[in-house]
Order: sequence, then structure tokens, then C-alpha cells
Amino acid sequence: TGESFIVGLIGEGITASLTPPMHEREADQQGLRYIYRPIDLTTLGRPGTDVGALLRACRDLGFNAFNVTHPCKQLVLAELDEVSDDAARLGAVNTVLIRDGRFLGHNTDFSGFGGALAGGLPDAALDSVVQLGVGGAGAAVAYALLKAGTGALTLLDLDPLRAAERAAALSGLFPDRRITSGTPADLPSVLPGADGLVHATPVGMHSHPGIAVDLQLLSPSQWVADVVYRPVETELIRGARAMGCRVLDGGRMAVGQAVDAFELITGIRPDAERMLAHFHEL
Ligand code: NAD
Repeated sequence: TGESFIVGLIGEGITASLTPPMHEREADQQGLRYIYRPIDLTTLGRPGTDVGALLRACRDLGFNAFNVTHPCKQLVLAELDEVSDDAARLGAVNTVLIRDGRFLGHNTDFSGFGGALAGGLPDAALDSVVQLGVGGAGAAVAYALLKAGTGALTLLDLDPLRAAERAAALSGLFPDRRITSGTPADLPSVLPGADGLVHATPVGMHSHPGIAVDLQLLSPSQWVADVVYRPVETELIRGARAMGCRVLDGGRMAVGQAVDAFELITGIRPDAERMLAHFHEL
């Protein structure tokens, strides 16, 4: 069609992000002209509050769309002309489309996790889920679980106030669900009755090695999802698999947000399994 795309990723410390090569490789496979550049606030020495100025500058230089990440997912809201219903309800945007000079905000973190669940744990029971960690990633994951039909969601965080606030906000959006909150000390009482566990804290990353869950609390009938994707094979994923649980690693969520962003940007549904395979090569 001769259509071409210039896309950027705005955030702190994102120069080594795998999202740009994921998009570019898939675009190559689709026969599209597609350039995806990291715009690293850390390298530029600019604060997250400059996201609006950067968006406008890049729009004027012909960019078609952006992903935005930490610390800009909330800051960018004030710069947008339109926000999707889901992103507005979630209060976070990770994808900005430029259409006729206007900025349109979407969130593919939650939909990406939803796609990851459907692709990586097909037919998993989602009625009752325990989630550990309710920060940025946790907020998107909790929203995705409720959109996918979870009826009873228990949100646990080291910060009990944060967990309670998130539970209250989500109860407002999903009034027919049972959403409760607590701390990791509640795991022994709440985990045995759950269909699955989602881990959304930084524990298990290369920079925060370890495991936040006592594996002995798991039973083989349960599934376990981790949002941590560096490494993809966390201590939790390895241990849960050894316990006989079905597992979903954080790589699928990282790919899922890119799959859905690519579709919003190009209008073409990418090949999610091909993007996942490429992610694992990177
Ligand atoms: P964050 O700092 O916003 O939130 C982390 C939350 O975990 C905080 O509320 C903190 O209080 C809580 N916490 C920390 N240790 C805990 C513990 N031991 N028990 C219970 N709660 C604990 O961080 P974030 O941006 O949400 O990132 C969390 C992880 O998710 C990181 O590893 C990040 O790389 C990953 N992540 C993955 C994806 C993906 O696409 N797979 C996307 C975003 C973030």
C-alpha cells in the first residue's frame, strides 16, 4: 500500500527495550515500512513531565504513534485529545495514536495480559484468583482478570493501603464481583481456595532475585502467572512448574502488549505466536 510508520517509545531507561525489535521484525514479516525508535528520557536527561512536549515535537516530525512507559503512563493522560474507555477506567495509557494531529490514548498492558492468559493458559479457570502486587503492572493485570470474568479477586501487597485502594477502585468499576485486599501474610489462608495465582511484584527480576510465594502453598490443580519477564524463567515459574502447576511466564504479557499495540498502530493483526518466538530469540 506504500503506507509507512514511524513509532516511538517514551520512558526512562528504555534504550535496551525489546519492544522496538519486536515491532520492527513483525512489520518486516508483514511487508510494512516501519521504524520504531526508543526515546529514552534518561539518556536525554529529561523528566517524565516532558512527555507532552516530546509527543508534540515528534508529531510535527511525522511520527504516527507511541508507546509510553514508566514514568509517563499517568502523566500522558493530560496531553491526550481522546482516551479509550478501558484506559480511562484504568487511569493509565501505554499507547498513543496520532490521527489528524490528535492524540488518542489506549492501554494494551491489560489487553496484552488478557491475550497472554487466553493464549498461554487456555481454558484455565479464572473464577477465583489471588494476585500478589498491585503497582503499575498489577493494576493492569487485575483489570484484565476482571474483564476476563474473574468473580473473586484477592489483591495482596506489602503496602496494605495500596491494595485496599486498588480493591475499592476496581469494586467501583466491577460492582458485581468480590474484590478483597490484604498483605502477603494472608497467602496461607486465601491461596488454597483459589483457581490461580498471579505474581506482579518485582521479586524474581535479575535486579530483585528471589521468590515472593511459599511454593508449598500451591497445589498442582492451580495455575501460576508471573509478570516478571527478565528473566522469563523466574524462580516462581520454575518452582510452580515443578509442583505440577500450569504456568504463564511474563514474556507472554510483554509480547501481548506489543501485539495489541501493533494492531492499533497498523490496523493489521500481527502473528502473535511469531512475535512470541522472536521475543524468545532476542
Ligand atoms: P511497581 O513498583 O509499580 O509495583 C510493585 C508492587 O509490588 C508495589 O505495590 C509493592 O508494594 C509490591 N511488592 C513488592 N514486593 C512485594 C512482596 N514481596 N509481596 C507483595 N507485594 C510486594 O512495579 P511494576 O511496574 O508494577 O512492576 C512489577 C514487575 O512487573 C516488574 O518486574 C516489571 O518488570 C514487571 N512488568 C512486566 C510487564 C510485562 O509486560 N510482562 C509489564 C510491566 C511490568
